[in-house]
Amino acid sequence: MAPIPGPLAQDLAEQGEDVERLLGTFHPSFDELLTRVRPAAYLPDEEYHTPRGGMQASGPGEMPLALDLNEGPAAPLALVEELSARIRSDRDLHVYPDEHAIKLRQAVAAHVGHGDAEHVAVGPGSVAFYQQIPLAFGKAPSAGSRVLVFKPAYGAYFPVVASTGARLVAPMLRRDGSHVDAMPKLVHDLQPDVVILCSPNNPTGEVLPNEVIAAVCTVAPGLVMVDEAYGPFSSADAPALLSRFPNLVVTGSSSKAFSLAKLRLGWAVAHPKVIRTLRKVQTPWQVSGPAQLAGILALTTYRPDVLANVSAVVWERDRVVGCLTLTAGVEQLLPSEGNFVTFRTHLPASEVHAAFLQRGIRIRDVSKAMEDRHWSRVSVTACPADTDAFAQAAKEVLGEQPS
Ligand code: PMP
Repeated sequence: MAPIPGPLAQDLAEQGEDVERLLGTFHPSFDELLTRVRPAAYLPDEEYHTPRGGMQASGPGEMPLALDLNEGPAAPLALVEELSARIRSDRDLHVYPDEHAIKLRQAVAAHVGHGDAEHVAVGPGSVAFYQQIPLAFGKAPSAGSRVLVFKPAYGAYFPVVASTGARLVAPMLRRDGSHVDAMPKLVHDLQPDVVILCSPNNPTGEVLPNEVIAAVCTVAPGLVMVDEAYGPFSSADAPALLSRFPNLVVTGSSSKAFSLAKLRLGWAVAHPKVIRTLRKVQTPWQVSGPAQLAGILALTTYRPDVLANVSAVVWERDRVVGCLTLTAGVEQLLPSEGNFVTFRTHLPASEVHAAFLQRGIRIRDVSKAMEDRHWSRVSVTACPADTDAFAQAAKEVLGEQPS
């Protein structure tokens, strides 16, 4: 509502009207605005934020060792140098990047070993697809779209999916083997519009066998998304199913194995018709020029360096597991194929987290996701000194196993 023009306000005041009150009635309150834009019930309670929050703003020297967000290892130096040199010499910052990101999409297709650019959509991080997939393949909010996620699950799914107006159905499934039969059965019984699977799963770390994904795709009435953000650290290979299931979308991330989290780049691989539909809900120029270039370099020229980093992380993951196995206060350890290890301690995770932080190491309290206040998660880097520092702190905080 436009403000009341000055002369009119003056007239109204002269007629004895209370202009302030009138202004108040003409302008919708914020709460009214929310109900007009979209029923408030469809909006998430809170926006997503990581527990690290504002910590990133402090000086680099003061930062604790960050083993909390599953970031990838430091990017290969040669990649960083070539990327910086090419950005430095680029005199065309005023020019829009390739709207179709063709070279990048071709590089992603070659990386996953499926199809060509037509089979790939790219976006600002793989998180973008948890919004785009329900938007493109769910029903309108008023028709009650439903998205099925199996807990324990990555926390960002919840607010991002809710922002599309879909209702999230999220049963808790212990990953003790029973989930293999439970997943297709729940999909069959609940008939969701979209299913989100995660492999390796964050925070539990296990890979979903392709037979389970195939069984889910067979009974799902709608789209099945498999989040393979941690795929390169693991034996996960959902793309091998793409030629059999036109309702399957596999998403990938440059943030973990490819060490490009700061540039925000992710992808979705699927049947070209699914990709064309997804692109209809994407805003133009999803991926910036520097991010396209970095992605192409990481997936082509520097792929061997990236893969060497991945092997180093897998090596360090075994060392982290070894150290936690020898730690007295660790009661349970989940075998992981991601760049992280999740473990249960006798102490509550909040205490464990605080004790590690006192020693300059930030790990993740995952008790909310696990629905049990004793679970923590530590990210694994490619750097042996990080593992050594974690092992030393683990000994101090959680004690050594008697020999
Ligand atoms: N998927 C999972 C399962 C994750 O744990 C994360 C990051 N923690 C992401 C996706 C985020 O990926 P991106 O940076 O590509 O948006």
